[in-house]
Amino acid sequence: MATIAFIGLGNMGGPMAANLAKAGHTVKAFDLSPKALETAAEQGCQVAESAQHAATGADFVISMLPAGKHVQGLYVTGEQPLFDLLGNDALVIDCSTIDAETARSVAAAGAEKGVGFIDAPVSGGVGGAQAGTLTFIVGGTDAQFQKAQPILECMGKNIFHAGDHGAGQIAKVCNNMLLGILMAGTCEALNMGVKNGLDPKVLSDIMKQSSGNNWALQVYNPVPGVMDGVPASRDYQGGFQVDLMFKDLGLAMEVSQQSASATPMGSAARALFNLHKAAGHGSLDFSSLIKLYQDAE
Ligand code: NAD
Repeated sequence: MATIAFIGLGNMGGPMAANLAKAGHTVKAFDLSPKALETAAEQGCQVAESAQHAATGADFVISMLPAGKHVQGLYVTGEQPLFDLLGNDALVIDCSTIDAETARSVAAAGAEKGVGFIDAPVSGGVGGAQAGTLTFIVGGTDAQFQKAQPILECMGKNIFHAGDHGAGQIAKVCNNMLLGILMAGTCEALNMGVKNGLDPKVLSDIMKQSSGNNWALQVYNPVPGVMDGVPASRDYQGGFQVDLMFKDLGLAMEVSQQSASATPMGSAARALFNLHKAAGHGSLDFSSLIKLYQDAE
């Protein structure tokens, strides 16, 4: 069993750390939020007073943070960068969704200090994090991938090696651009059906068995009351925030621009989430996009 520092215990990191503790690993957990630390302690993690405290002597450091600047600050540019205190046997597994360029530059900074770093963003949402069924998409060397695999298996079901450093983030951003497009399309179709007198549950059941079937319809229906246990049925609290989807669509647009790839649908989805965010809904789950389509009551 390993000693694992876990930094970032939010909607995703909290349940992921809990699954590592449940598997028998020693998990030293840190987050800026005292409430997140309280929950982690209830789930069998040891609470650390700082990220540095958590990482000292750890075999693995896992981070699940909002964006690239947080990851860079933690390992490279902050006051006490973790790369300065980790041993050469330690492996850093960053599961946050960040830009590939930052992932590559942080990996290179780690390599200079003799510390391994891989990007391992995830898919599967909060439900997948709780159930331990996440998909991990890893960018790093073969040896780093093999070393991380048994740890990732405690939190996920499908573990993919996408390629070298940064490749995990590129694959993740392709996936999330598609997810943003699918959620927008699902909201659009459901709203049109409801406005024409259909019951959203009946329409969802029809489309799930038809050619419009997709992940949002299957496990993340955006209309309140259609599905139990999803953010739509708890006022869009928890889940995957509009702010984070907007960030991911921005990352997709950067990749699109750098590679001159045509992404008109991704660009339209970003514009829709931007409007929704500007209306004050940034902290709601991303399935709340349906509010943008609904008539004002
Ligand atoms: P969240 O906002 O719920 O959690 C982020 C946590 O990081 C917060 O608890 C915050 O206090 C903590 N934090 C921020 N800076 C910190 C620092 N310097 N030190 C310690 N803790 C710090 O976000 P989330 O939904 O858990 O998402 C985390 C990452 O996972 C994001 O990159 C997101 O894009 C990605 N992601 C989220 C989902 C989802 O469904 N929520 C799915 C896949 C990927």
